[in-house]
Amino acid sequence: MTDKKQKILVVEDEEAILMGLEENLKFSGYEVETAMDGRGGLEKAQKTKPDLILLDLMLPGISGFEICRELRDGGYQMPIIMLTARQDEFDKLHGFEMGADDYVTKPFSIDELLARIRAILLRGNRREMTGKVYEFGTCTLDTESRILKNDGKEIKLTRTEFELLAYFCGNEGKALSRNQVMNEVWGTEYYGTQRSLDSFVASLRSKIEEKPAKPKHILTVHGVGYKFLGDG
Ligand code: CA
Repeated sequence: MTDKKQKILVVEDEEAILMGLEENLKFSGYEVETAMDGRGGLEKAQKTKPDLILLDLMLPGISGFEICRELRDGGYQMPIIMLTARQDEFDKLHGFEMGADDYVTKPFSIDELLARIRAILLRGNRREMTGKVYEFGTCTLDTESRILKNDGKEIKLTRTEFELLAYFCGNEGKALSRNQVMNEVWGTEYYGTQRSLDSFVASLRSKIEEKPAKPKHILTVHGVGYKFLGDG
């Protein structure tokens, strides 16, 4: 069996970090593309269509957020992990709305980053289209076309938001612990904090709930996690 190498694009303007990442990723069996500024990163992403992008937030030219948004607006669906510095005060919710799938804060452990990369790439392969259509409230989620409509209007979902919502829909009425949701949606190797999950839930609520502050579909189960109700 010949496995085609998966390609990762690293967009990072700090040369030492870029070179360290390139070396470690190559050593782990990935093909690596690199760019050191925003515009170059965006062009490389569009041209080389990598399987995953590691994207620095603060870049010369255009920022990581803008690159994310431009790619998603252009229909590019590859997973994006944002690399952020602590002093950037990375706004997770904003990042996820722009279409990022995950983020790590510098300085990060390379082992942790590699584990997240594996988990994200694996989940892309694992979660195949099921063709199910879920209806709840004023929404319809088509898991084959991956389209969410609310009141007949198409609502943009990031890849991770789609997977999270599809998981909730498939487990209607069950109280799901945070760990359970994260293991299922992000993969068992996920090292992230539960705050990321809460940010994704907040973003989903703003898209499907009539009153996001008083949700009827994605309910918080205190001390446990969440419960999805189709018709709350
Ligand atoms: Ca930077």
